[in-house]
Amino acid sequence: MSLQSQLGTFTREFLQTAFRLVPWPTEAGLRAIGQPDESSPVLLTGNFDLTVRRLTHALEGVDAWLLVAPSGGINVWCASSGGHLSTHQVVTALKTSGIADKVQHRQVILPQLAATGVLALDVFRRSRWKVRFGPVDMHDIPAYLDKREKTDAMRRVRFPLSERLQMALMWGAPTTLIMSGLALGLAPTWALPLAVLIAAMSVFVFTLYDRLGEARRWMLLGVSIALSLAATLFAGGGTGALVAAVAAPAFVTGLLTFDYAGSTPTEGGSHFEEREWHIAFDESLCDGIFRCWEVCPEACFDRDEANRKVVVAHDDRCIRCGACVVQCPKDALFFEAHDSARIEPDVIRKFKLNLLGARKVETR
Ligand code: SF4
Ligand code: SF4
Repeated sequence: MSLQSQLGTFTREFLQTAFRLVPWPTEAGLRAIGQPDESSPVLLTGNFDLTVRRLTHALEGVDAWLLVAPSGGINVWCASSGGHLSTHQVVTALKTSGIADKVQHRQVILPQLAATGVLALDVFRRSRWKVRFGPVDMHDIPAYLDKREKTDAMRRVRFPLSERLQMALMWGAPTTLIMSGLALGLAPTWALPLAVLIAAMSVFVFTLYDRLGEARRWMLLGVSIALSLAATLFAGGGTGALVAAVAAPAFVTGLLTFDYAGSTPTEGGSHFEEREWHIAFDESLCDGIFRCWEVCPEACFDRDEANRKVVVAHDDRCIRCGACVVQCPKDALFFEAHDSARIEPDVIRKFKLNLLGARKVETR
């Protein structure tokens, strides 16, 4: 690859990471990875350009069919939670891409994080294609394809430092541009301090926030006020600057920790405002298909093979993403509050978490 094209790729990666809130669609359709034949695996992903390029890279050395389904140019987890990558898009892609003529089998492997929005059972009913949910991390796909078995590590969202820094860039870059842009017009001496304040807070929030325990909101407030006061001094002080120093941390903190669509290292992709809901299980309905075990991004379930039942072994890890509830064919899983109020599986299946949209669900 020439230096110029390397530079072009780097710039595209950077922009698509930093401004990921904006859709970056790539062409949907069927792609051949390596030299696939009629028995090669069929993988499906959304049409977020960054994902498709990274996935193609991660699959080097693998022969497979890659079906790129229209997801509004949004990444898989957010698109699935927000209704942009749903059963409909998957069935349409399977029926219109010509993949049925390319392979003899009828099994499609979806990213595990698509499980909040794509109903495996409905895909089968409508297309006769069986859905398997592959690993969370695309880099584990070659090992998964080798054994067709997901290890515990493959099922869990890990959020390593590299991903956390990407999230910091994703929230920090647009926030910095807006705030510093405003400052340039109104009080130019504030542009640089604000950029530093937001960059520091973005990194702090996404690398440490969820690891600080109960006191984290107070610690975040403390750090942001300290940074803000330092920025005030740097900007030369003054009454306006002091007022801004008090107002800016609350505003930036709100922007950075707001619970947007999908899930982040700092917040779960909660389906509801109230945080008392926990995952509940009716064991009598369970027949041990283990779909919940396959799709839970926090590995909350263990398999009791002897009794063909699942065990909710780590409910304290639950981020209320809803994937297990959506996929359970027996409706054995649901959300329950301490006063026994319930959110039924059908409600969770219909609920879509759109950015700044309605976030309440009906309960009974
Ligand atoms: S809870 Fe539902 S998805 Fe999980 S093993 Fe039981 S029947 Fe299967
Ligand atoms: S147990 Fe919680 S984290 Fe796991 S899939 Fe279900 S809702 Fe999501």
